[in-house]
Amino acid sequence: EFPAFSNGKNILEKLERHGYSAFFVGGAVRDFLIGRPIGDIDITTSAKPEQVKEVFPKVIPVGIEHGTVIVRHNGESFEVTTFRVEEGYSDFRHPDEVEFVDDLEKDLARRDFTMNAIAMDKQGKVIDPYYGRKSIKNKMIRTVGNPSERFSEDPLRMLRALRFASQLDFQLDSETFSALADGAVMIKEISTERITGELEKLFAGPYVSKGVELLRRSNLVDCLPVFKENRRLQDSLRQVKVPFGQLSELICMLVYWDKQVTISEWTKAWKLSNRTKKEAEQLYEAISYSRKKQIDAWLVYQLPSHLLDSFIRLHTTYFSPVRIDYINHLIHSLPIRQKRDLSVTGKDLIQWFPERKKGPWINQALTSLEKLVVIGELPNQKNVLKEWLKHEYHPQSTD
Ligand code: ATP
Ligand code: MG
Repeated sequence: EFPAFSNGKNILEKLERHGYSAFFVGGAVRDFLIGRPIGDIDITTSAKPEQVKEVFPKVIPVGIEHGTVIVRHNGESFEVTTFRVEEGYSDFRHPDEVEFVDDLEKDLARRDFTMNAIAMDKQGKVIDPYYGRKSIKNKMIRTVGNPSERFSEDPLRMLRALRFASQLDFQLDSETFSALADGAVMIKEISTERITGELEKLFAGPYVSKGVELLRRSNLVDCLPVFKENRRLQDSLRQVKVPFGQLSELICMLVYWDKQVTISEWTKAWKLSNRTKKEAEQLYEAISYSRKKQIDAWLVYQLPSHLLDSFIRLHTTYFSPVRIDYINHLIHSLPIRQKRDLSVTGKDLIQWFPERKKGPWINQALTSLEKLVVIGELPNQKNVLKEWLKHEYHPQSTD
């Protein structure tokens, strides 16, 4: 009766056959009860990681010290964590002491929000000591226990609250919101990588405007890298309209809205990969080009195909609608796909202009040809390109 969990049921059964107790928990149970598609399934069990390893043939240790292993079963991954309570968060990153306890309720008590603190057994019976289902019904995000204490224990939870609001269209319960607004500055204790991990989900959430509004209203935005103490940047977030598929899209738009901060400043401060930086640059190039000129063959030629969707979404949302059939037409009509496809090579140039020394002019000449061929000014034919070059480089001596 809950097919999405069918593989997971095998895991619970097997653990139980070996004398352990085991339950589904976390996001999958929450999403199942909400009625939205479930993602990765988390399992909580009385079995210790070493015992889980004895029960299953395929186990990947991911965080043994925190009691977590990944069990592979029928091509699916399950994060299996031993019941635990955590004490002491002095360094704001890892619990000082992870104590394993054979007690499901205590395990649920350490979880962040009531909607995430619901367990479900293999028959689909729900164990819900913190009234998570009631929160789900009221579309409310509330911490398990005192919100100020829970946010002090782990300030990342504040950002998690907002990203769930953005993903689920839930409200923050008023006490939870006040504690968050009061404690926002604690987010500075959290590593940048963990912050951007949650921000990425917040900005990709279907209800992103809600998440962004909360980010601003709670003042959490004022404690985030780059945004802090920059009112203008914070205000630019008001323009956000639709979810960003990836952070490179967001950074492209942030720089478009406020050119004082460069792409590399954003990606550096947010500790993002070079790949994200590069993609933000390529998107920004394409957006700027289309604003100055138009969407043409040169634009689609230069934009990597994996960024086309992002470009179309940004352009359609923030500038003007893009006709996809027109883009496809441009792509299919491209005479070449890359510089290498030119009928002329550097070697040809050296041969044709023996009087010139090798140097940057070769690449410059090829780039000129590339652009002329792509926009259809010249055919990609060796003799025609040679003629054009002869004119360019020896204007007087031809004829
Ligand atoms: P998603 O759908 O994004 O996976 P999720 O709720 O499963 O959402 P995870 O980050 O996968 O989120 O965490 C799994 C579960 O672990 C959560 O549902 C929650 O019960 C618990 N959890 C995760 N992070 C924290 C935290 N910082 N503090 C307390 N509990 C947490
Ligand atoms: Mg999860």
